[in-house]
Parts: sequence; structure tokens; C-alpha cells
Amino acid sequence: MSAPTNLAAMRKGSSQVNGNGARSKPAGASGTGAADAALTNAQLAAIEHQYSAPNYDPLPAVLATGRGVWVQDVEGKKYLDMLAGYSALSFGHQHPRIISAFIKQAQRLTVVSRAFENDQLGLFCKELAEFCGMEQTLPMNTGAEAVETAIKTARKWAYLKKGVPADKAEIICCIGNFHGRTTTIVSMSAVPQYKDNFGPLTPGFRLIPFGDVEALKSAITPNTAAFIVEPIQGEGGINVPPDGYMARCLDICRSNKVLLIADEVQTGFARTGKMFACEHDGMRPDLLVLGKALGGGVFPVSAVVSSREIFSVFKAGDHGSTFGGNPLGAAVGREVLRVLNDERLVERATETGEFLRRRLRAIKSDKIKEVRGKGMLNGIEIRKEAGSAHHYVKELLKLGVLCKDTAGQVIRITPPLVITQPECEWGLERIAQALTSARASKAAT
Ligand code: PMP
Repeated sequence: MSAPTNLAAMRKGSSQVNGNGARSKPAGASGTGAADAALTNAQLAAIEHQYSAPNYDPLPAVLATGRGVWVQDVEGKKYLDMLAGYSALSFGHQHPRIISAFIKQAQRLTVVSRAFENDQLGLFCKELAEFCGMEQTLPMNTGAEAVETAIKTARKWAYLKKGVPADKAEIICCIGNFHGRTTTIVSMSAVPQYKDNFGPLTPGFRLIPFGDVEALKSAITPNTAAFIVEPIQGEGGINVPPDGYMARCLDICRSNKVLLIADEVQTGFARTGKMFACEHDGMRPDLLVLGKALGGGVFPVSAVVSSREIFSVFKAGDHGSTFGGNPLGAAVGREVLRVLNDERLVERATETGEFLRRRLRAIKSDKIKEVRGKGMLNGIEIRKEAGSAHHYVKELLKLGVLCKDTAGQVIRITPPLVITQPECEWGLERIAQALTSARASKAAT
């Protein structure tokens, strides 16, 4: 194995040590966005393809700057962002108050690890718990880490509080779920690609159909610790369950001493026209899993919010994360909560979402099977005969609209919540064009 030699050779090839011992940058890689703009979309994409592991297949726009709902690629082409980083950019790019909170905190204190207290963490935990109508917060960084945290909490609760025999705890999850990419989380997935060749997988999960309360009832056993569910499935295809589903699930869980974990990583923080999608059914879960928008589009911040009683299963040292609860993320999260209220984002998501769906439904195209969603979490399902959703997403990119396909046939339309109706109109015009043009039809066949 000659890896060390090869690595040394690679370092030599990509940068050189100058006379002062400092490394000079390779040509074209100045380290500043502005200077890198000398490289074209195609050149930068080629570099990424060569040096980034091939676990993604990004659409061919090399984005360089963004403000509000607009982004620009390195060649100056402007796009309307109708994806919003899967809700991570719910406040748009460079939200002035969030950026300002971020910079202010970055200049004070950024990371201390949980070995010490910091002056943002306690306030963040308090404000987030109160914001959710709950008692305690367990901060992490990514959505997947928060889901893992909820799973560990539920399992430990089952052993300590419910008396489930050791290593027998079960968690019920739904077909069509997406909760992240860790080995344990993909063990819950029903999508073969997410699991194939990543085994051995984590046991203890039981899949049931989404939206089916009877299936939940019959899947529960004395060893069931929890039911984990997205109130609206995002990656699964913007799947909206029947009205009252979450409330009925909570009743079933309560009568069987099972915890209900709501994964609101994507649906939370006004995305669906309520602060949390569970509120559509007037219910509050036992554990609320949050992420994406909580980081204000600038920093990964996630959390599980729950009761003191449930979190009492943890003692110091059971669980943690070096970066979870860092002062920079906590300060951003605190500002996010204030912006949500001050900018009336729940009301705006409801109003703009209704407008968007009404206008999407008015598009006369035989390619559209259904337009569905709530608030600003919307999907256009494309008929199979009209080709894949990915094809139309590529067409939309050419027209200057960023969005993304999911579950094969669904184009998700999930812009930043701060988008205005005229900006929506700009996108709608192009969506209509992509879904009605003869060119799109031809290419799809
Ligand atoms: N839960 C849900 C509902 C999600 O949509 C996602 C990400 N799409 C995750 C969890 C995982 O979040 P992350 O990518 O930050 O790990």
C-alpha cells in the first residue's frame, strides 16, 4: 500500500511551498468566490466531478452568489430558487438579520464543545422549547443526528420507563419515509438504493403504510417504543395524509404507551403554513425533531424537543456531539425564532402557498397528474407517460428556475417562505412553459 506516498505527491501537485514556507494556491483556486468566477460553469463542474465522491448528481448550475430568492451561477446567469435547500433556506439567501446574528456571534465565540457552558446554549434551549410548547431541548447539528437522537431517546425510554426487555425495543416507521442517511436511519427506509450494500442494517424497525391508522394499530406490540413519522412526507413525494391522521396516531400511541416522534426537519418552522405541521391536526408529539430551517440557511442546527420526563432517561455521557449546541449555531437558531414571528412567516406561507397551488392547478397540461401540498411544501406529480420529473427539472433549470424532482415523478416546488407573489409569477410562467412546450414533450418521449 503506497497511500502516504501518493498523498504526498498529490499535495505537491496541487500547491507548492514557497520560500517562506507558506503554500501557494494552484492556478484558478484563489480561495475567494470572486476570483474563482474566472472559471466557467463547465470547468468548475468538471473539477467537482473529478474530485468530489460521486454520491450526488447535481444539476448543471454552479452557483456562486445568492440574495433573497435569487441566486446566480459563476457565469452570471440568474435563477429563482424554488427549492430553498429542502427548507434549509426558508428565509431565503443572506437573510439580513440572520447573517447579522451569525457574524456578530462569529466575532464573539464560535465553538466551545459541551465540555463547558456557553452563554447562548441555555437561552437557545429555553427559547426553542418554549417556542414549541415543550420543556427541554437536545441540540445537535444535522437532521439525521436529531433523528438518531430521537431513536436513542425512545429506545432508552422503552427499557427504563416501559419495561421492554433488553434489546427488544421496536420502532414503527412508514413506507415512503425519509429521515436521513446514517446506517441506522437507512435501516428504516423502504427505498432499496438507500440500503443496498450498506448492511448489516440496524434491526428493530417495522414498516407500515403512511396515512393508515389501522396499520399503526395492528403493528404495535408490547415491545413498541415509538412511532416515527413525517406529518407530510417530503422526499417520499410530498405525500399529504388524510386530515386528522396525526391526531389519531397520537391517540393510538397514547393508549398503547408508545411515543410519537414527529420528524419535522423539513415540515417545521412555517413551511406548511403552520409553525409545525402537527398543528394542522391540533396535536403535539412526544418528541419533535427539527433541523434545516433552524440553521437559517447559514449553519447546520438541529434539535429534538420534548418533555423533562422523557429526557430524564439520559444521564451525562449517554449521548452528545462536539458541535451540537455550539454558541454560533445557538445564536443563529435564536434569531431564526424571532424572524419567524416578526416576519409573519406562518401567515405568508399559508397565503403564498394557496396562491401557488391555485396557479399551478390552473396550468393546462396533460403532463400533470396532480398538484398537492400544504403551505409552501408543494409537489407537481408528472404522469408516467410524460417522462420523469427529472427531465422537467432540467428544462426548468434552463429557463432559470431551480427545483428538484423526488420519488421519480414529483417536482417539488418549495420556495423560500419570503418569496413575493410577483416572484412566484416569474417562476409560474416558466413552470407553465416547461410543462406545456412541445419541446419538453418531445424530449420526454
Ligand atoms: N428528516 C427529514 C424529514 C428530512 O427531509 C431530512 C433531509 N431531507 C432529514 C431528516 C435529514 O436531514 P439532514 O440531511 O440534515 O441529515
